[in-house]
Amino acid sequence: MGIVLLLGILVGAVVNRLGSDLPARRRPRLPECPYCGRRRPWYQWVSLPAFLVHHQHCPSCGALISIRHPLVELGLAFLFGFLYWRYGLTARFVFFALYTTIFVLIAVTDMERRLILNVVTIPAMALAIIGSFFTGHIGWKSALLGGMAGYVILMAIVLLGNWLVGPGAMGGGDVKLAAFIGLVTGFPLVLEALLLGILSGGVVSLLLLLMRLRSLRDPIPYGPFLIVGGWVTMIWGTEIAHWFFR
Ligand SMILES: [Zn+2]
Repeated sequence: MGIVLLLGILVGAVVNRLGSDLPARRRPRLPECPYCGRRRPWYQWVSLPAFLVHHQHCPSCGALISIRHPLVELGLAFLFGFLYWRYGLTARFVFFALYTTIFVLIAVTDMERRLILNVVTIPAMALAIIGSFFTGHIGWKSALLGGMAGYVILMAIVLLGNWLVGPGAMGGGDVKLAAFIGLVTGFPLVLEALLLGILSGGVVSLLLLLMRLRSLRDPIPYGPFLIVGGWVTMIWGTEIAHWFFR
């Protein structure tokens, strides 16, 4: 388990790099300070130990490493640990850990830059098709059907939304994310995943509107909600469906 947690932290450090480099359309490179551009010393490449020993400031300009970095590392360590505890050292654990990593990367770029990148979603879809042969929780036919359903349903929602209120809350990146989620959860569970994601996003949007923290003109990124719906359905989809239709 210790190794799995450590792996989660290290993968988290990689996700942090990709989350900064990919939206800037540059090749991934060694960590550097986003303010002064100085290369980070090796002990800051993984931010969690740097934070723990209070070396979380750039030695050159003193800027704090974004809190996103240790959160992503801790979050992935926790999620990897959970998956290992639930599935043991199996193919399902390996693929679910990869899907989780991709989900976190997409959540980071969508929350920070409002971007869900093809360079992430398209390889993710290919990986999920391969995974459907190994994970055993769904078959490849269910995966393909789920992927298509996710794509079509979200495309319809985006088109409808654009027609009703103009371009805004969701876009092409969300459509490809929904296809990836469908490939991971399969059909018909993709319906549950999208429903959970859209409902939770709607509830949070409504609360933010009511509290006047956001207006209709600046919609929240929807990707993280779709991701939570997709991840929860990936793990507990069947249980939730049984409970709901009991
Ligand atoms: Zn600096």
